[in-house]
Amino acid sequence: MVYDVLILGSGPAGLTAALYSARANLSPLLIDGSQPGGQLTLTTDVENFPGFPKGIMGPQLIQDMRDQAERFGTQFRHGHVNEVGLQSQPFRITVDGEETFETKTLIISTGASANLLGLPSENRLMGHGVSTCATCDGFFFRGKDIAVVGGGDSAVEEATFLTKFASKVTLIHRRDKLRASKIMQDRAMKNEKIAFQWNSTLEEVMGEEIVTGIRLRNIQTNHTEDLALSGVFIAIGHTPNTGLFKGQVDMDAQGYIRTQPDRTTTNIPGVFAAGDVQDSNYRQAITAAGSGCMAAMDAERYLEATH
Ligand code: NAP
Repeated sequence: MVYDVLILGSGPAGLTAALYSARANLSPLLIDGSQPGGQLTLTTDVENFPGFPKGIMGPQLIQDMRDQAERFGTQFRHGHVNEVGLQSQPFRITVDGEETFETKTLIISTGASANLLGLPSENRLMGHGVSTCATCDGFFFRGKDIAVVGGGDSAVEEATFLTKFASKVTLIHRRDKLRASKIMQDRAMKNEKIAFQWNSTLEEVMGEEIVTGIRLRNIQTNHTEDLALSGVFIAIGHTPNTGLFKGQVDMDAQGYIRTQPDRTTTNIPGVFAAGDVQDSNYRQAITAAGSGCMAAMDAERYLEATH
C-alpha cells in the first residue's frame, strides 16, 4: 500500500497536518517519533492557545488534538524512524528498523528540542518552575524572582521580556561576556530588574514539588552560592530534529529545514516541512499548528496536480 500522506512527528504541527489531511479524505499515517506529543508534553498550563479561556494543560491539549485527528481517520504508528528514502517516488520511511512504509507525500514535523543542561533536578522540575519558553510561561511569575541561564540572544531577549512580570531576573552565564548582539546586551544592561551572575553554572535546581531556589557554582573560584527564587528559564539554544534528513532535504547552517517563503514546500517535490523543524523564530504551539495546516493543504494540492 502507498499512503497519500505520511506525517512524521506528533506535536501541534503534525497533529494539525493529520487533522486537515484526514478531513480531506487522504487517510494519513502519522508516526509519533521519539517524544510523542513534542514539547507541549513538557509544559503544564498553556494559557496562550486560543479557544481555551481558562487555559489547558499541555499534555491534555495534545491528547485532544490527537483525538480530533483520529476521529477523521488518521492512523497512528508508535515508533522511531531510522531511515528515510526521499530520492525517488514513492518515498520510503522505515520505522524501528522493522517496517517500511511508502508514501506519495511526506510532511516533516519532527520539531526542535530545547537544549538542556542535563541535571536530574532540571528534568524533575520541568513545568513546575523550570521552563524553556519565556513567552509561554513568563506570565506565571508575576512579582517573583527568577533566573535565566544562557548568554545568547535568546537568553538576553527572554530575560528582558521576563522583567515585564518578574520582580527580578538573574541572568546566569558561564563566561564573563555575552554572545548576544550588542543592542540586546545594551538593553539588558540598562534594565534595573536584570542582575548578572558571570562565570557561573547552574549546579542544581532546588525544590520538592516546585522550584524554590538554585545552586550556582562560580567556575573561577569554585565557590557555590544558593539563590532563593521561583523559576528558572533554560535558554541555551535549540536543536532541530533533522538528523535523519541530512544530505536529502535542504537545511540552513543550524540544521533547520528550508521552506519556500509563505509555503511549506522543501527542495524535494512532495516533501513538506511544518512547525519548529523549519521555524527557529516563533516556536509557538499556535504557529506550529498553523504551519501544519499549511503543509496539509500544500500536500493536497500537490497530489491533485501530480496524481
Ligand atoms: P546561542 O546563540 O547558541 O547561545 C546559546 C548560549 O547558551 C550561549 O551563550 C552559550 O554559552 C550558552 N550555553 C550553551 N550550552 C550551555 C551549557 N551547557 N551550559 C551553560 N550555558 C550554555 O543560542 P540562542 O541564544 O538560542 O540563539 C540561537 C540563534 O537565534 C542565534 O543565531 C541568535 O542570534 C538567534 N536569535 C535571535 C534573536 C533576535 O535577533 N531577536 C532572538 C533569539 C535568537 P557560550 O556563549 O559560552 O557559548
